[in-house]
Order: sequence, then C-alpha cells, then structure tokens
Amino acid sequence: MADLEFRIVAETFDSMERITSRTQLTLLLVRLFKETPPEVIDKIVYLIQGKLGPEWKDIPELGVGEKMLIKAIALAFKVNEDKVVKLYRELGDLGRVAEKLCSEYRSKLKGAGQGLLAFMGGTEEAKLTVTRVYESLYKIASAQGEGSRDLKLRILAGLLADAKPLEARYIVRFIEGRLRVGIGDATVLDALATAFGGGVHAREVIERAYNLRADLGLIARIVVEKGIEALREVRPSVGTPIRPMLAERGRDPAEILRKVGGRALVEYKYDGERGQIHKKGDTVYIFSRRLENITSMYPDVVEMVKKHVKADEAIIEGEIVAIDPETLELRPFQELMQRKRKYDIHKIMKEVPVAVFLFDIVLRDGQDLTMKPLLERRKNLEEIIEKSDTFTLATSMITSDPDELWNFFLKAIEEGSEGVMVKAVHDQSIYRAGIRGWLWVKLKKDYKSEMTDTVDLVVVGAFYGKGKRGGKLSSLLMAAYNPDTDTFRTVCKVATGFTDEELERMQDMLKEYIIPHKHPRVDSRLTPDVWLEPKIVAEILGAELTLSPMHTCCLGNVRPGVGISIRFPRFIRWRPDKAPEDATTEKELYEMYRRQLRKVEEEVKA
Ligand code: ATP
Repeated sequence: MADLEFRIVAETFDSMERITSRTQLTLLLVRLFKETPPEVIDKIVYLIQGKLGPEWKDIPELGVGEKMLIKAIALAFKVNEDKVVKLYRELGDLGRVAEKLCSEYRSKLKGAGQGLLAFMGGTEEAKLTVTRVYESLYKIASAQGEGSRDLKLRILAGLLADAKPLEARYIVRFIEGRLRVGIGDATVLDALATAFGGGVHAREVIERAYNLRADLGLIARIVVEKGIEALREVRPSVGTPIRPMLAERGRDPAEILRKVGGRALVEYKYDGERGQIHKKGDTVYIFSRRLENITSMYPDVVEMVKKHVKADEAIIEGEIVAIDPETLELRPFQELMQRKRKYDIHKIMKEVPVAVFLFDIVLRDGQDLTMKPLLERRKNLEEIIEKSDTFTLATSMITSDPDELWNFFLKAIEEGSEGVMVKAVHDQSIYRAGIRGWLWVKLKKDYKSEMTDTVDLVVVGAFYGKGKRGGKLSSLLMAAYNPDTDTFRTVCKVATGFTDEELERMQDMLKEYIIPHKHPRVDSRLTPDVWLEPKIVAEILGAELTLSPMHTCCLGNVRPGVGISIRFPRFIRWRPDKAPEDATTEKELYEMYRRQLRKVEEEVKA
C-alpha cells in the first residue's frame, strides 16, 4: 500500500507552528495533501486535526497521562525518568523533551557504530510512515481493561524509539492533545478544493458533501479517489451524522415574515437538546447538535424511535426536552443536562423523563429529502410517525400575519418554550445542512437587559486579575467567528459574572489551552497575558453594543479604525454544546448593532 513518510508530516507541522497567516497555512496544507497517496489521505486529515477520526465515531480516548508519557520517553531513549522530569521542568514542553532526548540517543547510537545500532534494534533506517503512526495511536486508544497500561506503554515506547527527533516532538504533542497547528475544518476544505478541485471554486461542492456526511477524512478520500464529480452524488447516510441546518435571529414579526417570503411555518422553539435521530431496522443512533454520539444518554428515546417511527430507514430531527411526567409540562434545559452525568443512566432516566418534538426529516427509506421544500418534508415526517404524548411533532401553525405570529409566540413562551422558529415554506425552502440562513429565523424571548440577546463568544486569551483575584486568570478575551476567513476576531474582555467557584474551576480548564503565541486563526489588537487556543465557548450578555478601537470584530465596517464591542459584558454560562465555529458570527454582531441603531433612532423620533 502506498504510504507517506511521517517525517514529511512532522516537517509540515514544524513550519505551520511558525506561521501566523492563514493563507500560508492553507498553502502548506495543499502541498502536504498533494504529496499524500490517496490511501492515507483520511488519516492525514484526522492527524492534522489532532484526532483519530470524527468525534461521533466514539473512538476511545488515548488514555495516556503525563506520567505514562514520561515513562514511555524514558524507556524509548534509554534514560531514567528523573532525567525526563528534570528536562520537562527546564523546557516546559514534553514534545521538546522527547525531541531532545531522541536526538541525543540517536547520536549516541551513531557514535557507537552500526554494530550497537543493530544490537539495540536497528532503528536508524526504520522510517516511520503515516500508517504506522496512526495505527499505533489507534492501538493505544483501543487498549482497554487489564494489562492495557503495559500494552499502551510498550506500543508508545516502540513508536518513539523508531522516530526521528522532530517526529518524536509531534507524536508526544498529539498524545497530549496539544498539536496546536491551527487547522480548522474550513482550512481543510479550502486546501482540499485547491489541491484536488482545481481551485477555491470547488469549495462549495466539497462543503456541501461534508455537510451531508460529517466526516472530513471520508470526504477527502472520495475527492482524491473519485474526483470532485463523485462528491455531487453524496447523500445522507444512516450512521453518519449530517451537519445541522441553523437559524438566523430576528426580532420584529413583520420583518421576519418578510425575510422568509411572507408565509411561514411557525413552530415552538423548545429549550432542550437537539437530537438527530438515525434509524435503520432496529438500530438507532442519536447525534447531538455538535454531532457527538449521544445515543447512550437516551435509552428511552431509542425505544420511542423503535416503536413510533414507521419507516425502516430514516434520519429525522427533533428537540429532546425534559418534561414533568404527570402534567407533560416542559421543564428547563438545565434539568435535561443532568443526563450528561453518565453514570446510572437508568436512574436519571426516571428522574428526568423526556419528550421528543420532531421538526424535520432528511432521509426516508433511501430517499434523500434535503432538496424538497419544507412542507413536503413535514408531510413525509407526519406519514412515518405514529404520535404519542412524548414522541410527537413540534407544535406549529402556518401564517402570514404578524399579529397571529406574535400571539403564537406568546403562547409558546407561556407553555415553557424559548420562543418560536419561523420557517420559510416556498419552493426553495430546502434543508440546507450546515448552514445558518434566513430560511429559518428564531424569535426568542427578551432577556432583561438592553442588549436584546445573548451572544456566544470564543475565549482566545486571558488576563491575570489584581487584588483578590491576583495570580488568577480572571478576565477573558472573547471573540466572534468569521466563517469566510475562518478566523476569530475580538469583541470584548469579560471579567464579571463568574462566581468564586467558577473562577477556581476556570483556572484548570484554561490551563489546558494555553499556547505560547497568538493562535493563527485569531485576529486581535490586544495582547493578553496568555494566549489560548480558540476552543471554549461562553454565553455573554452586555448592556449594549458599542464601537471600540481596541477590538477587531467588524473592524472598519461601521467606521474606519473601530470595531464592534460589548459594553459591560457579563459571563452567563459555558456552552460546551457549541464548537468554536458555532459561536456568534461577526456578521450577526453587525446586524445586531444595526438593529440597535434603528431602535435608538425610533426612540429619538418618538
Ligand atoms: P441557540 O443559541 O438559540 O440555542 P443555536 O445556535 O444552538 O441556538 P440556532 O440555529 O440558533 O442554534 O437555533 C436553533 C436551535 O433551536 C436548534 O439547534 C434546535 O436545537 C432548537 N430548536 C428547538 N425547537 C426547534 C424547532 N421547532 N425547529 C428547529 N430547531 C429547534
């Protein structure tokens, strides 16, 4: 089987680490992809993203802690553990430690001549390949149960012993989950389009396929092996999640109706967890909004699906909501989240019963329904569901009247929903997987604040506090997402809203993501005390949106030299259910700012 030397991957990582421009990063990736034989392109895609496969595949954690890693390094390069620990203290990076010790070990072997080299395993000429590295890591992750520690240690030490110094650096960093070369999905898509689709114009086809089959490795493999045309044929498939369709936000019923084309299907916006339900025969999978496999959290929903979905094969979507089993009243999201504590799911299942409110269907017995208009999909959904009290369709109505919409919204809130989803029903109202657009508009209840809605921002840096909070990272630099450039641009610093306990917990959490320099996908004018990998999303509420020369979000869009910021931002809660790319976008903040301006103008006129 054709393979790629891991050396080439390690050298690419090394170059990437020193680059801060996304264009250059993409070019390096294009070069790497072009050198990669088709058979291993999927593995390359996973490895550069620091994983062994898409999250939903439930590949076990590597299960190698720092202690074991130190042991493996010592074993591989024949030094004692104390030496590894000492070096670690000096260099502060186990990747660098492995690199240094590997280099010393190799020169020692060379000095001793080929005889000793052969005696010690003859590793000088052994060239690590991508397959060898990937499979070893996979074996390490798969080793479970009794004796697995030893097995993990042996595989890892063996792998490191065969590595060149630079390779050792990245193997160790991968295991620590600190690859940090800054490659997001969008960069991979761009690079695939340039490398195999003839240019960035191919990005759209690749992205659509990826939206329908959320496995970047698989998509890369199809484009390399079968060409861009084959990607046009990609359909949703049971077992592989599709990326969810998302909604824009609106405030004024009349304007929302205009945006969706006059007439709309209006549904309750339930406050629970989105469930993408896949069924084939008796097999059921449930994927979350972030496409994690959450089937094991909802054995009761699995049973409902088996009982109430009449199609043999289907992919349907709905909101899973905690309910009061007696009255069937809707309960808040926080109650549902108790299910996240995985132990004794059967006990929690009784304590937190749920109902499912379905709102879409994308696959029915082999037929891809994504290109059908909403009402046709809804009809298909209705046909295959045998409704019950706790497994039913989202409460809905069709209207083109703003007053009627408003009354329905009030009723939705009264019954415990967050608001309503207003959905286009015209001929073009297809299911746009992975896309946030104006085919769906959410209208949510107001928060008690002047800022009309909360925003979800990504932590990209942090500052140490003073006084009581001295020595603690207590102010976070927050950024919005720009999907066009795949970058995070700063909006504000948040230092209020954290309880003391939260602040404590936060220290450990942040430590995980500290990096030595600004992340290449972050655009900032401020320099925080520590830079962080853009990974954590938090919900933020402020008094109002303002203009600021310190921040890069929407820089120059309203006025030259200033960006959009938030006045008196407060931390509300973490959003572990959101990936950084799901954060509020620059464009959304711009629209919120415009709306705020209009409101002020109206008030002045009145
Ligand atoms: P939010 O930040 O408001 O929770 P989000 O960013 O997760 O939203 P949005 O597209 O903004 O996603 O809002 C849609 C979400 O609302 C869906 O992901 C789904 O979980 C939930 N939802 C509840 N009821 C419905 C419904 N009837 N139709 C579609 N989505 C619904």
